[in-house]
Amino acid sequence: MAYSEYWNPKNETLPREELQALQLLKLRRFCEWAYATTPFHQRKFDAAGFKPEQIKTLDDLRRIPFMTREEWMESLMEKPLFGDLLATDSRNAIRYHLTSGTTGRTPIRVLDSMKDWDWINEMWCYGIWGFGVRPEDVVYFAFGYGSFIGFWGAHYACEKLGALVIPGGAQTTEARIKQIIELGVTTVFSTPTYALHLWQKSREMGIDLARESKVNKVILSGEPAGSIPAVKHQLEEAWGARCGDTAGMTEIGTIMIFECSHQPGGTHIIEDHFIEEVLNPNSDEPVGYGELGERIVTSFGRGFIPLIRYRTKDMVMKVPASTCTCGRTWDIYSGGIRGRWDDMKLIRGTNVYPRAVEAIIREYPAIDEFQIYIWRKEELQDEITIKLEIKTGHEAEWPDLEHKLTKDLASAHEGLRFNIERMDYGVLPHFELKAKRLVDARPLANY
Ligand SMILES: [Zn+2]
Repeated sequence: MAYSEYWNPKNETLPREELQALQLLKLRRFCEWAYATTPFHQRKFDAAGFKPEQIKTLDDLRRIPFMTREEWMESLMEKPLFGDLLATDSRNAIRYHLTSGTTGRTPIRVLDSMKDWDWINEMWCYGIWGFGVRPEDVVYFAFGYGSFIGFWGAHYACEKLGALVIPGGAQTTEARIKQIIELGVTTVFSTPTYALHLWQKSREMGIDLARESKVNKVILSGEPAGSIPAVKHQLEEAWGARCGDTAGMTEIGTIMIFECSHQPGGTHIIEDHFIEEVLNPNSDEPVGYGELGERIVTSFGRGFIPLIRYRTKDMVMKVPASTCTCGRTWDIYSGGIRGRWDDMKLIRGTNVYPRAVEAIIREYPAIDEFQIYIWRKEELQDEITIKLEIKTGHEAEWPDLEHKLTKDLASAHEGLRFNIERMDYGVLPHFELKAKRLVDARPLANY
């Protein structure tokens, strides 16, 4: 049976003028809903002198005040558990979730209704159908099914489109690998870090996933690395499968971007359900195609916690839909999410973005684990050191690698000198789920 390439053929190929008309209609309605129901938005709109009826064109979006994570946190602190962000009584909710809780940060807590969950799953359907998941697929979730929202929506989406789902749940990595092979899994959902870990573990078990498993698609989420070409290439080789990037946020509850099966080197924006603005993070002015900026998201889907002009601090570069050959009219974030603006480190006057450094390091297959270590020398000079471990069997490459990597890093950073330090195997932390490879040890580094 021949399937359509698109989950929603009409909306995914809507001429941009019609798409924008749809966005305008949804935007105005959604602002009306938020203003009528949600104290958080009422006070913010009032303070900014904004009224939903002022939305006459999409440019009027810029009249709406930004929403920040800090404001959200303040509201949560003042009025536990959910602040004044709920649009309806909590009795109408069916599920409670939290952000994964990056170290030291208070997690964001969210509630969703059944209707919200229908929408959450629908957004994942766009993405995973777009990457090629079909009813014939046997899908495996290497996911803990906890209070982190993560792949929950993707699980339901796979059921919705008719695939056979295996919830990986809490098991050892070895047990997961055995299931993937024994049950004839064709599609695996995982974070990039864990997909790499599964492969490394399988090698230790004497299993070649590329030959012995039926996996032909690995769908990545949870970390930006799914669009770093060297990471993607490594994973595709390791699994003998295509790897597709997706990205979502707990604040939205689902994904807002996905890579289609044409793999254009970026991720389509689900533009019939989101408005994604890209702004200069300092001036808040919009930037054009091909320029880096901060993504600001307005989501029309989650009724329980309306999200309007939310500042994500994610670094992105938008390119036109025509960059891809799939026929979707939805614009693309070239390179997916490229990191976070607040991740930027200033080292002796040069901007260093951890993800850009990772992209260079990943060009060297002999490197196993690494850490970006920033420190201060004699209380005067900031230094950046790449601590790395060499894979067993590749030790002979070290002298040459050290020389080349130092050169590559410097030439990508206006000549900035990076120190390279080789560590004994197993000294650096090895990550299974989400990686934390940046350590800023300077005094007051995290002010
Ligand atoms: Zn495409």
